[in-house]
Amino acid sequence: MSTFTDRQQRIAQKIESDVVLSKWRDWHWQIRHSIRDISAFEYLLGVEFEQDERRKLLKTLEKFPLSITPYYLSLINAVDFRNHPVFKQAFPSSSEMIIMEHDMKDPLAEDSDSPVPGLTHRYPDRVLFHVSNVCSMYCRHCTRKRKVGDMDRIPVRKEVKQGLAYIRAHPEVRDVLLSGGDPFMLTDEYLDWILTELRAIPHVEVIRIGTRMPVVLPFRITDSLVEMLKKHHPLWINTHFNHPAEITASSREALRKLADAGIPLGNQSVLLAGVNDCPRIMKTLVHKLVMNRVRPYYLYQCDLSEGLSHFRTPVGKGIEIVESLIGHTSGFAVPTYVIDAPGGGGKIPVMPNYLISWSTNKVVLRNYEGVITTYKEPDSYEPVFCNRDCERCELRLNVDSAEDVYRSVGIAELLSNQDDIISLVPDSNERIGRRNGAEAEADG
Ligand SMILES: *Cc1c(COP(=O)(O)O)cnc(C)c1O
Repeated sequence: MSTFTDRQQRIAQKIESDVVLSKWRDWHWQIRHSIRDISAFEYLLGVEFEQDERRKLLKTLEKFPLSITPYYLSLINAVDFRNHPVFKQAFPSSSEMIIMEHDMKDPLAEDSDSPVPGLTHRYPDRVLFHVSNVCSMYCRHCTRKRKVGDMDRIPVRKEVKQGLAYIRAHPEVRDVLLSGGDPFMLTDEYLDWILTELRAIPHVEVIRIGTRMPVVLPFRITDSLVEMLKKHHPLWINTHFNHPAEITASSREALRKLADAGIPLGNQSVLLAGVNDCPRIMKTLVHKLVMNRVRPYYLYQCDLSEGLSHFRTPVGKGIEIVESLIGHTSGFAVPTYVIDAPGGGGKIPVMPNYLISWSTNKVVLRNYEGVITTYKEPDSYEPVFCNRDCERCELRLNVDSAEDVYRSVGIAELLSNQDDIISLVPDSNERIGRRNGAEAEADG
């Protein structure tokens, strides 16, 4: 059972003098009383900002609004609140008004890779489906910051139906990732309808939900929500803890309910300067996550979205953190560190180097301790010839249960013998442009 800490009681009573624990734990109550302006924040936390700072903050709020649930606010320690990880993630900073030369409105080009409104189809076999534009808390580091507030609404059923129709018409989509906004801002009934529609599509194998509710509003994970979700397996959930201070009795209870319902849980953290850019903090976080049956999935390099410059670290900080985890702790506690490619190339994993050198039959590796070792490769290896004709292959793939077409793309295509492509050349390559120009002339 989650507790009602003294600080939480103080805050709750300031909101409603006769408040009881059951109200505090009612997610509708939490959303109704979300903190959306600076004065309310000051009053509830018992702090005060200087006039000059207030002015700058108000200016920031015009561009990027503020919203914090009373629960998430209650995690902030008023003493030294400015350095508290929850304060930094939830409370605006005038640094958000700084726009750096390389910042972009939509760095991941989600809008350009969107065949129908609210759906991003970037990878061959899976789509990102924005079913809600609403969040219970506005993360200051949101990559979709451009959309926060001004689109604060639930997409109407008609728009969601368009997305569903797209998925239905694309048999290659085997994995649908519900995102937003936060999909758990929808009612149980509406979400149940979306999940039922998706489950009725034969080629949709897995459904995933990305939500920050276990972190910012754990009371949303009600018994009835979980009962509903259970009907739609295989269903995976990814959440978004960034700091060990976010793992509380209430969030542990929410995670337990989800895990007990058989939902595999993952976590996506964002590397944030001044919040979690520290190997010890990240190690503590991943340990707490696995104790609560959550597998650290991704650690994101902070995107190039406008207004995030004060949160960005060098890539080296992420590599240093991964270096401090691999080998030093359980393999399943180590997230994959990724940079989401500006321009929409998708997530690119980044790692320390473990392969130091190699020859035709030996590789030289180093381990986490710095020990340098060799691995002797076979002197002879006869690879099975592969032109993707699996029916004729001596490695017996059960072709009946496998997908019909298997075409490699990208670097995997270069490595395969499926066709005679020997290089990938950018469209803008001048040399090839001249060649094509010369051909055109010869033709004419
Ligand atoms: C992250 C993301 C996915 C899912 O990627 P995984 O690596 O499979 O978790 C799918 N589509 C888009 C547009 C994404 O940004």
